[in-house]
Amino acid sequence: QSKSQINLLHAALIESRICAQTDPLTGVANRRGFHERLRDEIARYKVSARRFCLVMADIDHFKRINDTFGHTIGDEVLRYFAGILQRQARSDGCVARYGGEEFAVVLAGLDLDAATPFCERARQAVGATKFRSSGQELRITASAGIAQILTGESETDTLRRSDEALYASKKAGRNCGHMH
Ligand code: GH3
Ligand code: MG
Ligand code: MG
Repeated sequence: QSKSQINLLHAALIESRICAQTDPLTGVANRRGFHERLRDEIARYKVSARRFCLVMADIDHFKRINDTFGHTIGDEVLRYFAGILQRQARSDGCVARYGGEEFAVVLAGLDLDAATPFCERARQAVGATKFRSSGQELRITASAGIAQILTGESETDTLRRSDEALYASKKAGRNCGHMH
């Protein structure tokens, strides 16, 4: 094969790899991309002790939004929420759509003290936005759970702890964050 054909194949391979790790609706990483990033971060933590936090963020009463305004508006809200998380996470964060209306954010190099303001900024930005659909006004809120990586911890354990913290936020009445 000629060199230019190899280059084309190489570019196509890279593109399909990116595609396989991207959520088509929101453009952020999908669950596959998220797991890869989380594995990388845990490996780096073992080698260099660089800490990180895992945030699980979930839109409150999203089912109601779909039921009241329809799935198209629901999809728009998902895209909007992903955008807020990306802007607020800045360059420290890798945002992923974990599933449905639940997003996971890996905040590289940040401990709990540094991760808390991210959650608060995102929570406020989400709550401050007004959507309009056929004359009706729509506001959304979201809840979050944060866990900081612990020594010797596995992916599953970190995920479980941030999920428990998210559950605590839902139980406490939503529109808030908890740390594990
Ligand atoms: P909670 O505050 O406890 O999180 O309640 P909730 O209504 O947000 O959570 P629940 O898990 O009951 O509902 C999630 C809804 O998200 C149900 C499902 O139809 C909707 N959903 C999942 N994926 C998509 C999507 O890609 N687009 C749209 N529009 N809706 C989605
Ligand atoms: Mg929800
Ligand atoms: Mg959910």
